[in-house]
Amino acid sequence: MEILRFRPIPAAAVYFGLTRRCPLHCRHCSTESLMDSEQYPARMFLRFAETFTEQNRPELTLMSGGEVMLRPGLVRDIAERARAVGSRSYALSGLFFAQKPRIPKAVRAAIDSLDHFAASTDRFHEEEVPRADVFRVLHELLDAGKDVSLQITGEGPDDPYLADITAAVRREFDDRVPMLVVPLAPVGRAREWMGQQPQAAYPATAAPCSLACWPVIGFNGQVTSCGNQDVMDGKVPLPAHLFLGHIAHDDWETVKRKALESPMVGAIRTYGPEYLMERYAGEGNCEGYCQTCWKMSTTPGVKEGVRALALLPSTIATRETVERISVAAGPLGFARRFGVNGYAELVTLGGAVERDLACAG
Ligand code: SF4
Ligand code: SF4
Repeated sequence: MEILRFRPIPAAAVYFGLTRRCPLHCRHCSTESLMDSEQYPARMFLRFAETFTEQNRPELTLMSGGEVMLRPGLVRDIAERARAVGSRSYALSGLFFAQKPRIPKAVRAAIDSLDHFAASTDRFHEEEVPRADVFRVLHELLDAGKDVSLQITGEGPDDPYLADITAAVRREFDDRVPMLVVPLAPVGRAREWMGQQPQAAYPATAAPCSLACWPVIGFNGQVTSCGNQDVMDGKVPLPAHLFLGHIAHDDWETVKRKALESPMVGAIRTYGPEYLMERYAGEGNCEGYCQTCWKMSTTPGVKEGVRALALLPSTIATRETVERISVAAGPLGFARRFGVNGYAELVTLGGAVERDLACAG
């Protein structure tokens, strides 16, 4: 809940992709991770975290992979650096270590250094790591007082797996573990066996992209405004408007400034790519939400049109209103918009609700 509360706020968080490697082989893996996938020097990531200051740092420092716990020392170093300047930390793991009788010491130290630990589990993860092992690790962490949550993907509201796993988690942990249930996307390995995304309907309506809010650092140090996997993987040429810098030479202040001041990124957050494409390039140029976004810098007239649009007082007022509405919708609003229908309320489980109620009281 606390993380999702920040989700619509531009540059309120930064996402580190610390490695592309992973020992598991999930059939839906968006990063197509293997144990010999790319991994860049730890120093590059730490150097960037060291550019956070008390006056200028993200509220949240989020870490993922590949499998982030293949680099437990780096997770700990970044979490400690974040805490030193007032940023809270989170990591998402596929729990490759869960089949060991105890959490390995270095991994446990990394988890202990975090403010929040999230684990992925779903039908595909369960083929790699049995549910009982996931539950055992979560029990061990909960018993030690750690805030934990689960991220679960499913194939829609009628997916019987989702009904089964969410009921099992609620029973097993007595509603102490929040769950973010999101739809499976045809990205990475999942693309091989999933259908294509639906095409845009015309005329294209304004549909703000909330994912263009938090800078995402790829496993290679490249920073983009949303972390779109095809862009990170170089499967599509890097759209100039999504590039925010590189952590080998840019600092947080520079990346944050670009994220906040880029007219294109601001317009995508406010109107979404299809509306902008249709407005400045005409009908017939949209090919799906992100696919349309990828072409915005190279489609004649769009960049210039968006630059002029960004200067209008009405655009500034619209952008501020969209941000205000998104913040007001709160964590549940985000979960309802991006999660699987019928499962949004599961983000309210756990300690966060108790704390909120205590505050309200
Ligand atoms: S645990 Fe995550 S990174 Fe690893 S194979 Fe599964 S989906 Fe990919
Ligand atoms: S619309 Fe653009 S900014 Fe938003 S998620 Fe897709 S590629 Fe990223």
